Amino acid sequence: MEDLEKKLKIMYTEEQIQNRIKEVAKKIDEDYKGKTVIIISVLKGAIFFTVDLVKKMKTPIILEVMQVSSYQGTQSTGNIIVKKGLDTNIEGKDVLIVEDIIDTGYTLKYLKEYLQSQNPKSLKIAVLADKKERRKADVKVDYTCFEIENKYVVGYGFDVDEIGRNIPYIGYLEEE
Ligand code: 5GP
Repeated sequence: MEDLEKKLKIMYTEEQIQNRIKEVAKKIDEDYKGKTVIIISVLKGAIFFTVDLVKKMKTPIILEVMQVSSYQGTQSTGNIIVKKGLDTNIEGKDVLIVEDIIDTGYTLKYLKEYLQSQNPKSLKIAVLADKKERRKADVKVDYTCFEIENKYVVGYGFDVDEIGRNIPYIGYLEEE
């Protein structure tokens, strides 16, 4: 991992990440006042963001996890499968999907439609990072911590072939 870290440039420090998450948590608390929200954390990358976000929220939460993946190569293709579904019934509940990054948008579009079919009372999306310029699928993101350039990010949940998730800041790989 040291070799990986040597190749990384810092995009956001731990402090910048925590400060921004605090702001977003406050906004979420305002929007969900008096409600209990089901948080669906999308494995694996969003674990780190989810933990820090919910600890900064005052709103009561029920924590759930899901895992999805695209089944053709590593690039998002829109061919998404649910690897781990929900263990709970979300019908009539307020639900917030927490994801690490939205890139093309195919993953979250699929996930939103999949969950919408289970008739939640409300369904929103929070992301740590948004590569807006890369969007191909139309999906509304309700809470965004950072809008980022089209760079491959690593750390704070983001991996390169499963390595680097526990780097505490968000870095990016420079083009070689
Ligand atoms: P989308 O379906 O929006 O194109 O893809 C979202 C998924 O692509 C994310 O959940 C993440 O797994 C992966 N992804 C997109 N950009 C990056 C990146 O810069 N770094 C890492 N580690 N994963 C990324």
